[in-house]
Amino acid sequence: MDNIIEVKNVTYRYEEDSKIQEAALDGVSLEVERGSFVAVIGHNGSGKSTLAKHLNALFLPSEGTVIVDGIDTHNEEAVWQIRRTAGMVFQNPDNQMVATVVEEDVAFGLENIGVPSPEIRKRVDEALETVGMTKYAKSSPYHLSGGQKQRISIAGVLAMQPKVIIFDEVTAMLDPVGRTGIIETAKKLNKELGITIINITHYMEESIDADMIYVMNDGKCVAHGKPRELFQRVEFLTELGLTVPIATQLAYSLNKAGVDIPCNLLTIDELAEALCRLK
Ligand code: ADP
Ligand code: MG
Repeated sequence: MDNIIEVKNVTYRYEEDSKIQEAALDGVSLEVERGSFVAVIGHNGSGKSTLAKHLNALFLPSEGTVIVDGIDTHNEEAVWQIRRTAGMVFQNPDNQMVATVVEEDVAFGLENIGVPSPEIRKRVDEALETVGMTKYAKSSPYHLSGGQKQRISIAGVLAMQPKVIIFDEVTAMLDPVGRTGIIETAKKLNKELGITIINITHYMEESIDADMIYVMNDGKCVAHGKPRELFQRVEFLTELGLTVPIATQLAYSLNKAGVDIPCNLLTIDELAEALCRLK
C-alpha cells in the first residue's frame, strides 16, 4: 500500500519533564493511504489537534516517528518541505486571515517562499476558482461569512500545491450551509485534484463518505474502520462520548424496538428506502 502518512507508535507530552501530566498522545499508530479521504473523530481533549500538528512537523513526537511522503519529521532540514507537502486549515477562520484583500491573503504563503509574481497570479487565480471564490478576489476577507473565510484559508493552502490537507475542525464554527460548502470543497480537492484529505471533525455526517475513520480517545487511537462498519458500533462510540450519523442511530433504535431493518445504514435516503421496503 502506498501511504502518504505513517504515524508509528507516537507518544507526545506537552511538558517533557512532567511525570504527572498524562501524555496527550499515547502510542498512536495510523496510516493514511495516498489519495484517500480520512476522517478522525474523538471527543474534546482526545488528542486530535495534537495528532494533526504532528502531521506537518509543527510538533515532533516525544517517542515514535511520523513519516510524511517518505520523510521523517525529525529531519530538521526537511521541515519546510514537509509543511508544503502537508497543509493545514484550522478551526477559526479569523485567526488565519493575514491580509486585508482576499487575493493577497491567498498569495501570502507563496510570497513568503519567493515564488515569482506571474506564477503567484496564476496559482492564486486557480486556487480561488477551485474553492468557488473568484468573484471575491478583491474583497476584504472581513466582510465574508465564516464559510467563505474558510474557503479563502483553503485557497491559501491550496496555492502551495500540497499533497495532503489536514482540516482541524474547520466546520465547527460554521452554520449548516457553510459546513456543507466546505465538505463539498474538500471532496472536490480529493476527487478532482487527488489531494489526500484528513478531516478531523465532530460531525459524524462529514465522515460518511470517508475511506477510513480513525477514532481517538484519551490520546490513543482506539478503533478504525470504514464508515459502514465502524458506525455500527453504536454502543462503543456512545461510551466514548461520540454519536453516529442520525440515520444509523434511527436504524439502530428501530432495530432494538423489534423493527426488522438493517443496522448498516448511513444516510436518510438509505433509511427511507429501508422503511419503504418494510410493509
Ligand atoms: P482535541 O483536539 O481532540 O480536543 P488536543 O490535542 O487539543 O485534543 O488535546 C489533547 C490533550 O492535550 C488534552 O488533555 C489537552 O488538555 C492537552 N493539551 C492540549 N494543548 C495543550 C497545551 N498547549 N499544553 C498542555 N496541554 C495541552
Ligand atoms: Mg482540537
